[in-house]
Amino acid sequence: MSSNHGKIKETQCPVCKYKLNDATAVKGENSVPKPGDISVCIGCAEVLIFTEELSVRQAAMSDLLNLSKENFNQITQAQHVIRRLR
Ligand SMILES: [Zn+2]
Repeated sequence: MSSNHGKIKETQCPVCKYKLNDATAVKGENSVPKPGDISVCIGCAEVLIFTEELSVRQAAMSDLLNLSKENFNQITQAQHVIRRLR
């Protein structure tokens, strides 16, 4: 049994229904997601936000406007990579 397994419960992308059972931090850190953390769906490249229950919801424009320029650039880069893989 890996101690890294099950850091977050399995959840589904609300946009494309892709099953997300591992958090890939945009920053590349191996950290446990917190409510409010930003993620990018590897299925559809939508920006997702972790909720209080650590499920995810689609980011609203107001969430995106609150991002720092650095975070925004990281997300844009991640989306670019995901879309190229498809
Ligand atoms: Zn998705």
